[in-house]
Amino acid sequence: MSGTGGARWPAKGSRQANLLARLDIHRLEDLVLHLPLRYEDETRLTPIGQAQVGASVQIEAEVLSCEVTRPRRQLLARLRDEAGSEIVARWINFYPSLQKQLAPGHWVRLFGEMRGGFFGVEMVHPRHRLVDKGEALPQTLTPVYPTTAGLGQSTLRRLLDVALETVPLDEPLPATILQRLALPGFAEAIHTLHRPPPNVDTRMLMERAHPAWQRIKFEELLVQQVSLRRAYNARRAHEAVSLLPRGMLTHALRERLPFALTSAQRRVMDEIAIDLAASHPMQRLLQGDVGSGKTIVAALAMLQAAENGWQAVLMAPTEILAEQHYRKLASWLDPLGIGIAWLSGGRRKREREAELARLRSGECLLAVGTHALIETPVDLPRLALAVIDEQHRFGVRQRLALREKGTSGARPHMLMMSATPIPRTLAMTHYADLDVSTLNELPPGRTPVHTRLASTARRAEIIARLKAACLEGRQAYWVCPLIEESEALQLKTALETWETLKEALPELRIGLIHGRLKAEEKTATMTAFAAGELHVLVATTVIEVGVDVPRASLMVIEHAERFGLAQLHQLRGRVGRGTAQSSCILLYEPPLSGTARARLKVIFEHNDGFAIAREDLHIRGPGEFIGARQSGLPLLRYADLEQDDALIEPARELAGELLANDPEAVEKLLMRWLGGREGLLRA
Ligand code: ADP
Ligand code: MG
Repeated sequence: MSGTGGARWPAKGSRQANLLARLDIHRLEDLVLHLPLRYEDETRLTPIGQAQVGASVQIEAEVLSCEVTRPRRQLLARLRDEAGSEIVARWINFYPSLQKQLAPGHWVRLFGEMRGGFFGVEMVHPRHRLVDKGEALPQTLTPVYPTTAGLGQSTLRRLLDVALETVPLDEPLPATILQRLALPGFAEAIHTLHRPPPNVDTRMLMERAHPAWQRIKFEELLVQQVSLRRAYNARRAHEAVSLLPRGMLTHALRERLPFALTSAQRRVMDEIAIDLAASHPMQRLLQGDVGSGKTIVAALAMLQAAENGWQAVLMAPTEILAEQHYRKLASWLDPLGIGIAWLSGGRRKREREAELARLRSGECLLAVGTHALIETPVDLPRLALAVIDEQHRFGVRQRLALREKGTSGARPHMLMMSATPIPRTLAMTHYADLDVSTLNELPPGRTPVHTRLASTARRAEIIARLKAACLEGRQAYWVCPLIEESEALQLKTALETWETLKEALPELRIGLIHGRLKAEEKTATMTAFAAGELHVLVATTVIEVGVDVPRASLMVIEHAERFGLAQLHQLRGRVGRGTAQSSCILLYEPPLSGTARARLKVIFEHNDGFAIAREDLHIRGPGEFIGARQSGLPLLRYADLEQDDALIEPARELAGELLANDPEAVEKLLMRWLGGREGLLRA
C-alpha cells in the first residue's frame, strides 16, 4: 500500500509527514487507529463561582487586564465571567503573541484545573480559545491524541476528519460474533472513539471500558492471535528430522540417575519426545521455577537426538552456567560412553579447534556452550535439536542464528527454557507462537527459602550472623550491588566488598567471582566453592542464573532495592537447593522509592515464581517484561492484559476460525493493523 491515502495527506518527506512517521503513522488508515489518549469535556461551561478547587473545568470570561510581571517573569491575566466572578490565569512560559491575544475586552474560554492561589482562584497554563461571547459550545467530548513535539492537536484532528471521511471502515467480523460478545461494528466504534456523540457514557469512555473500546481492543487481540498463529504455522510448515524415541540412551541415563524424575518432569519429557518425533520443527518453551530440574529434561531430549545419530546443542547465557552444564552433562554421559563438546569464549584456541573438528566431522553429537556456539565458525552438519537455557537472556537474532547452524537443510527442533515463568495472559498472547510445557512441581525435599529484609544500617549485625553460620559449616553467597551504569564501578565495588569481608572475617575462607575473571579463575573459584573449600562466595550477578551448589544455604544481597523482581527471585533461587533450611537476607538502603518498596514486598511475601512473575507484569507492564524478546513482535497498543483478560479467549477462538474459513477477513485485518508488516515473526 502506498504511503499516501488521500489528496490531503502531507507530501512524502515533508516536515509533517516526518512528524507523523514518528508516531508510526504512514497512511490515512493508520490514523484511523490512532485513538485518543483521553478526552476533555468542553461541552459545558462552569461559572467561576461554582467551580470546585481541584476540578478541571471550562469557563468563559472577559479579559480585564493582561500584563507581564517582574521580577519573576510571568504573564498574568485577570478575567471576569458573566456572573461577575473573577479569576487569574498565569503563564510561566509563553509567546509574546499570547499577551496580544488576551487583550482587555476579549472573551475567552479557558480550560484547566481550578486552584486556590495567591491572587484568589486561578488557573495555571490553561488551554485557551478566543470566542464570541455566548458562542455555541461543541456538542461532543474533545479527543486528545498522543502526539509528538511540533505536531499540534488541531492538526491531528483536521487530518482525522479527512481520514474518517475517506477511509472505508469495512467490517471484517461476522455479525454473529459481534452479537455474541455484544460489541458494536468497527465503523461505529471508530466514530464513537474519535468523535464521541453527546449522549455517550463519559466515564466508560474515559476508563476505556465503553463497548467501542472493547470492540477495538478485541480486534487488536484478534489480529495479534492471527499473526502469531500464522507465524506458528509458517514455521511448522518447514521440514525437520524426525527423532524417534528409541530409548537406548535415555533409558540408560534414567537408570543411572541418583534421583527419580518428578511426575512433572516425566510429563514434560513425554511432551517433548512426541514433538521431536514429528517431521516438522518443535518450537517449545519449557518453563519451570528455579530449581525445578529443567537441565535433566534438556539432557534427555538431547539424548533422543543422539540415539538417532543426530546432533544436539545446549546454549547458556553465561560462561559459569555453560561450564556447570557441561560438567553435569559430562558426569551423566561419560559412563554411557557419549562424548560432549564444550565451546566458550574463554577456551584456548587449540582446545576450541579440536572441539570444532569433532563436531564438524559428526564424531561428536552433543555440545554445550555460551553464545560462542553461534559466534565462532561452528559447523554442526547434523544438528537436529537446539536447546536454549534461560532463553529470555538471548535476543531474537541470537536464537535465529543458532537455528541457522543446522546445515542439513532441515530445521532443528528448538527447546527454549526459562525460569522466569510467563503469566497465563502473556502465554496466551505474546507467546502464542510457542507451545508451552510447564514444570509445576519441585523435586521432593526442598524447604522454602526464609527471606528477611534489613536496612544497611544493620550490616555489621548481618556480618556477625554470617560468621556464626559459616563456623557451623554453612556456605553463603554475598551478592554485590548492581551498578547498571558502569561495569568498572561494579567491579570496583565487588573488590571492595571482598576486601572488607576478608578483613572483618579473618577466620573464614572467602572467594570472589565476577564477569571479568579469566575462565580458568572462574572455574577454580566455582569448583572450590562447590567442593566446600570456601565458606563465602562474594559475587556479582554472574551467579544470577542457573548456578547450582546445593550445599550453599545462606545468601545476602546488598542493595537489593536496585535489582528487578525476576533477578531477585533468580538470585534467591541459588539457595534452598539442598535439604538444609536456607535463608536470604535482602539488605536495602533507605529511603526506598515506591517501586522498590513494592518489589521488595513481593519478593518477601512470595516464594513461587509464577506469583512473582504476575506481580512483575503488574508493576512493569508487558512491554518491559518481555524485554529482549519483543523486537519484531506486535505489542498491544490498546488492549490491557489485566483489564481485558476476558477478551483473549474469544479472540483466540475466532482467530482459528477466520484462518480456516475466511482468508479475506484475515487479509483485511492484517492490512488495517499492521499495514502488511509482520516483521521478524515470520522467521
Ligand atoms: P533449574 O530448573 O533451575 O535449571 P536444575 O536443572 O539446575 O534446575 O536442577 C536443580 C537441582 O535439582 C540439580 O541439582 C538437579 O540435579 C536436581 N534435580 C533435578 N531433578 C531432580 C529430581 N527429580 N529429584 C531430585 N533432584 C533433582
Ligand atoms: Mg537451569
